[in-house]
Amino acid sequence: MKLGIYGGTFNPPHLGHLAAARFALEALELDELRFVPAAAPPHKVLPSGTATAQQRLEMTDLAADGLLLPQKVHVSGMELGRSGKSYTADTLEQLKAVDASAELWLLMGTDMFLTLQNWHEPEVITRLAGICTFARTHSDSVEALNIQADYLQKALGARTRVIELPHIVDVSSTRLRELLARGEGQEYLPPAVYGYIIRHGLYGVHLDLKHLPDRELRACSYSMIRAKRIAHVQGTEEEAVRLARRWGADQEKARRAAILHDCTKYWEKDEQLAMCRAHGIPLDDLEQQAVKLLHAKTGACVARAVYGVSDDVYEAIFWHTTGKANMSLLEKILYIADYMEPNRDFPGVERLRELAYRDLDQAVLAGNEMSIQEMKERGLPVHPNTVQSRDWLRSKRNGKEP
Ligand code: ATP
Repeated sequence: MKLGIYGGTFNPPHLGHLAAARFALEALELDELRFVPAAAPPHKVLPSGTATAQQRLEMTDLAADGLLLPQKVHVSGMELGRSGKSYTADTLEQLKAVDASAELWLLMGTDMFLTLQNWHEPEVITRLAGICTFARTHSDSVEALNIQADYLQKALGARTRVIELPHIVDVSSTRLRELLARGEGQEYLPPAVYGYIIRHGLYGVHLDLKHLPDRELRACSYSMIRAKRIAHVQGTEEEAVRLARRWGADQEKARRAAILHDCTKYWEKDEQLAMCRAHGIPLDDLEQQAVKLLHAKTGACVARAVYGVSDDVYEAIFWHTTGKANMSLLEKILYIADYMEPNRDFPGVERLRELAYRDLDQAVLAGNEMSIQEMKERGLPVHPNTVQSRDWLRSKRNGKEP
């Protein structure tokens, strides 16, 4: 197995790191790539008031997740658990002890590569791993990398690979921290990492979470979910705004409800239950068991308590999974946008899409009926609120008082 190791401070991880990782994966034909955030970097003094090791690990995890290669790309906290200084030679020895047959490749940019001979035990490093390097700025000279590669081969018997990144992102974490403190630099960050920075008030980014612009609200939401769900949240936002325009609802409210609707989707059940208790939300037996039903309630709580959404947006998020009788326009819009946003693909979705713009009630009713049918087929209990929503909409259709 060919394992790439990408060490760094990742304070914070940025698009330069990701561009290099993505290309090295392909160029070296790696089976796995592991980001390894350093604990106390031997060659760097961390600025005071910066992210903690745990926060750097969590940000690196978000960045790595954004590569959308969960089988191949991982993050390891192995250096963070170690006391004292963090040495690459120790990391490689530890990895070899776990799997002696693994072919290790250490990935590094120009700055690191040109000083490799000065690292702690460079002969151990080059014995245990090949070194893959790349220019990280437009002004870095590939010739200098090749000269250094020759030198390391002669002096230490190193195996080296110099690769040319097709896309250089000319930024460093140091520069990025300066930019962020001035309210700039977001374009160098994966949105989820930017959201994490906002939520934790890192690097001098101190925004009022209750009054975030849309871009920042999105970033915060994406930092709370796995990257594979982001496309769905984006699709829901797009659809909810379009439906709000069609049906004369408040587009900005529809947008904010959609951005936040799944923000607690990945919380553990215990965390979800604790939040419901803390907010006095009564739960029936089914909700106590089905974690899928809880995220709507906890998502609504977070949206209001943390991000300051209005009560009608809170309600739309609260009911987006089950629906209920007497839904408001905004509640119907989020419910159906979540159901049929452009990334959804299941038999009948086209009919829902068409109905949603022709007769919103009929679309929600069709959504309720599909959910009930699906639950029945899978032998799962149907939540009474969905049945009540269906019955309410059927009565409305038949001109009866619900
Ligand atoms: P700092 O400003 O603190 O030096 P950094 O941006 O260099 O931070 P590190 O976490 O120290 O980030 O770097 C980890 C690794 O990523 C190093 O091997 C470094 O050369 C490489 N690297 C950093 N920035 C880039 C970039 N923009 N493109 C490609 N590689 C990069």
